[in-house]
Amino acid sequence: MLPGDGIGPEVTRAALHVLTIVRPDVECVEAPVGGAALARGLPALPDQTRALCDRSNAILFGSVGLPQYEGKSLPQRPEYALFLLRRDYELYANLRPVRVFAGLEDASPLRPEIVRGIDMIVVRELTGGIYYGQPKEQRSVGGVEEAVDTMIYRAPEIERIVRIAFELARARRKRLTSVDKQNILETSRLWRRVTDAIAREYSDVRLEHLLVDTAAMQLVQRPGEFDVIVTENMFGDILSDEAAILTGSIGTLPSASLGVRGREGRPFGLYEPIGGTAPSIAGKNVANPTAAILSAAMLLRHSLADDAGAERIERAVDRAYADGLRTAELVRSGDSPLSTEAFAQAVVERL
Ligand code: NAD
Repeated sequence: MLPGDGIGPEVTRAALHVLTIVRPDVECVEAPVGGAALARGLPALPDQTRALCDRSNAILFGSVGLPQYEGKSLPQRPEYALFLLRRDYELYANLRPVRVFAGLEDASPLRPEIVRGIDMIVVRELTGGIYYGQPKEQRSVGGVEEAVDTMIYRAPEIERIVRIAFELARARRKRLTSVDKQNILETSRLWRRVTDAIAREYSDVRLEHLLVDTAAMQLVQRPGEFDVIVTENMFGDILSDEAAILTGSIGTLPSASLGVRGREGRPFGLYEPIGGTAPSIAGKNVANPTAAILSAAMLLRHSLADDAGAERIERAVDRAYADGLRTAELVRSGDSPLSTEAFAQAVVERL
């Protein structure tokens, strides 16, 4: 468990409280990362922390980043730890489930009748595409400044992420939307061809292809109809944030980043809230621990093959919201909010 900075320690402690009741056999060891490590004169990802990760099945991560480090060079910033973890464990599959809890429809910027029942997962390719392709540079040609980024995908990179998406869809409502820009991009044409080929192995899953511009519109028009969405790195970066904001409650959204290294046939993964360190509310016991608690549930499902444990946690969180329990940022006027610890305790009581 790497709690990190800001609200990270509070929300991961709350998640650990829930996790240890569901799985007392899981050994959880804590280590410093990000600003918490830099403040002790250590690098953002200390060697001992990395060694601990090497020995583990999965990482439960809080968040990293604090205002005092902004403007420093990357290795001097807390975020460098995440960069190294993603790179070194080749965390290529970013999974972001987006659900609107019954009773929380009002938090969305969209009308309640549009967001009611949203339950989707955005699967984003995280280690390839235009963010990493070479050449990537600014240069001067004949006295004119220009810049180039390169979008490149190899078929095996597409295959492994699309396969993860099909497996997820198979275990859910059996609908997969693959997002690309095949009318313009060669990488998208390859993406579509590889996806269609893999689809033959998943005849029980209904596959649709959407162009990224259409997908961006339909996410706000008919968000409840999406089940699993899979897409390349940059499209996924944009669409996963669009999908997240549909809920209006950043403190409720977990994520998983799955990598190539695995133990006992399960992928190694890093599990973390999608939100940041929320410095203005840190240390006050008011942050919403839902995203961290649901990240722990994802950890059980994907890295420890414990679907039952994951569902137990998810149902308990559902019940807490259905019972009207709220932390400060979601509370309705007149109601009193629960603290971070009290919300976790309420989830434990509903397990
Ligand atoms: P943020 O997510 O920390 O905060 C955005 C807003 O959401 C704030 O109003 C905050 O109070 C609120 N919020 C976030 N999580 C909440 C929770 N669990 N409960 C209640 N309210 C919550 O984003 P930011 O302000 O842009 O960034 C703050 C710091 O976090 C920056 O240093 C940034 O680099 C870092 N960050 C880290 C990660 C990560 O570790 N993966 C992700 C995003 C941002």
